[in-house]
Amino acid sequence: MSSDLRPKVDVLIGEADLSARVAQLGAEITRDYAGKPLVVIGVLKGSFVFLADLVRAIDLPMAVDFIGISSYQGTRTSGVVQITSDLTRPIEGKDVLLVEDIVDTGLTMKYLLANLATRRPASVKIAALLEKPSRAQVKIPIDYRGFVIGDEFVVGYGLDWDGKLRNLPFVGVPRT
Ligand code: 5GP
Repeated sequence: MSSDLRPKVDVLIGEADLSARVAQLGAEITRDYAGKPLVVIGVLKGSFVFLADLVRAIDLPMAVDFIGISSYQGTRTSGVVQITSDLTRPIEGKDVLLVEDIVDTGLTMKYLLANLATRRPASVKIAALLEKPSRAQVKIPIDYRGFVIGDEFVVGYGLDWDGKLRNLPFVGVPRT
């Protein structure tokens, strides 16, 4: 699609701010997990850009795996979470860092935390690029938070609008 056919998107968090914050989070994670082998789990699809940048900011040995879930239709949550592709390795006894694009109502993370707990990991922490606290329906303990945003639908840097716009290099708000 040529750029002039794309919906207009206003920049909310620009590339320089994203990259500076991801570097800080990576440094914190590197310090907190020193000496522990880490399993980083990306929640597909929205986390893939954040995860790609974050893992390169973490200076530790790690394994990377992905779990695919679908919870959204259009622009609002359906509240129903489905695993569309599962982890490829057991996480029993492992220190897990779950990487998510955005925590909105929190229902997806609540479901995932319960699901992962049944696999008996040593620990699970959450890194989320974005949090929308005004929409929280359940309290999710986010250990590494990129940015807090208001109640607006955002796209780019992995986040989609009906499957599109994930490749925008910034986080933005589509103009309606
Ligand atoms: P929750 O279950 O916390 O309501 O929603 C989690 C999932 O909904 C996120 O992983 C993300 O895929 C999607 N989501 C929530 N808010 C937004 C948003 O503002 N923009 C986009 N593109 N996806 C969102």
